[in-house]
Amino acid sequence: MKKILLVTAHPDDAEISMGGTIRKLLNQGHHIINMIFSIPSNIEVRKQEAILSAREFGYEVRFSEHCEGNNVEDIPLHKLIKELDDIIEKVDPDEVYTHWMKDSHQDHQKLSKVVRSCFRKKQFTIYEFEQINQNNNIAANQFHPNIYSDITEFMEDKKRMITIFQSQLTGYMGHYLVNAEHIGSWRGSQVNSKYAETFLLIFSKEVL
Ligand SMILES: [Zn+2]
Repeated sequence: MKKILLVTAHPDDAEISMGGTIRKLLNQGHHIINMIFSIPSNIEVRKQEAILSAREFGYEVRFSEHCEGNNVEDIPLHKLIKELDDIIEKVDPDEVYTHWMKDSHQDHQKLSKVVRSCFRKKQFTIYEFEQINQNNNIAANQFHPNIYSDITEFMEDKKRMITIFQSQLTGYMGHYLVNAEHIGSWRGSQVNSKYAETFLLIFSKEVL
């Protein structure tokens, strides 16, 4: 059993980006903790959505001590690094999944940087996930994955996860569910499967 830590900015980032892979890893018997660092508004509702999804699918969710009412960019870098250092020390993860370093969202970028800073003390495998943010195709088109995860079996679960985050499915964010289908199918077609999620493997802890 691997210990897997997801380092994410907002409730729903993990599920939108890698919900199928979360489900797949859980199926393989691994333990997953999703650590969320920011809920700037609508705090109780968004917290509950994250808790509900985690409970329904069997992973753990934790919230940063700084998360309530803050954007990630409002929290000093040294405080984020200190908090994640402590979590990594306690959890001792085999693998960490986080945002892409060049993600178009400044909060996502900052957390990705925090993960790499924490790497100085302990080594773990790092994956950065692909995430579409408000149709920002300038950044999205620059993501070149080197790992594909076939999620054909788990696509329905991924959609169910995204649906749990009801507060995020309105207005300009209402496309998440449709996009999960489109991007999943597009990435799947690149590896001869119906649906896939993709990642950038930054470092592998395994020594051959
Ligand atoms: Zn986010």
